Amino acid sequence: MTINMNDIVGTHDILFVTLDTLRYDVAKLEEENCPNLCGTGGWEKRHTPGSFTYAAHHAFFGGFLPTPANTDKASHIRLFHSKNTGLQTNPNTWLFDTPDIVSGLAKEGYRTICIGGVIFFTKKVPLAKVLPSYFQESYWRQTFGVTNPRSTEHQVNHALKLIGSADPDQRLFLFTNVSAIHGPNHYFVPGAKRDSVDTQRAALRYVDGQLGRLFEAMRARGKTFCIVSSDHGTAYGEDGYHGHRLAHEVVWNVPYREFIL
Ligand SMILES: [Zn+2]
Repeated sequence: MTINMNDIVGTHDILFVTLDTLRYDVAKLEEENCPNLCGTGGWEKRHTPGSFTYAAHHAFFGGFLPTPANTDKASHIRLFHSKNTGLQTNPNTWLFDTPDIVSGLAKEGYRTICIGGVIFFTKKVPLAKVLPSYFQESYWRQTFGVTNPRSTEHQVNHALKLIGSADPDQRLFLFTNVSAIHGPNHYFVPGAKRDSVDTQRAALRYVDGQLGRLFEAMRARGKTFCIVSSDHGTAYGEDGYHGHRLAHEVVWNVPYREFIL
């Protein structure tokens, strides 16, 4: 199904969820165990524009979402594109005349909200205020962060409070950076001492279980266009590599889905 973003913007709420650090191979392995994320289809394999959170999210907010992992880049229809660049754009692409999609959607009347997760969203130091500052409202609590084993539950609870009191007539652009899949995630497997593919799989199952409530709350408000993507993967020792902010296929391949709730 081809999405025409010009039919979405203005009529639909938009929910953008980044599953921070989720590897493509891990997401595929857990498709059957993720009824909320994969109830209407499986993950698409995409290439991320950034190898770590800061780079990837700047690109996303600039309208550069992950691109299909194939050699036919010309066939990819972008959801968002800056207006008046001189480049040819597809009629299904929504054009924004602001520096980024967040302020572009605000200009269309959207209320823009960021619920932060990993360190680049904590607002504790100036650098960690940059990504949240794209939004009219941004929230971060210690309980939303990577060290809390119930972080997604806390993030979703906060979102539900905001959604519950939101004006039903104003469209929402709700962005959430889910931190649970990022390291440390070993505590999702009892007894595990180190992060691994297995512990990341367990973290993803936990996250899927929590996102159902968020999707329900958005459905109750009306039509929602949902984008779910990882920002980058991570290496667990492949070819000697550990972590991300490096170029390896376990980092640049990411799972991506878009669907109407
Ligand atoms: Zn990240």
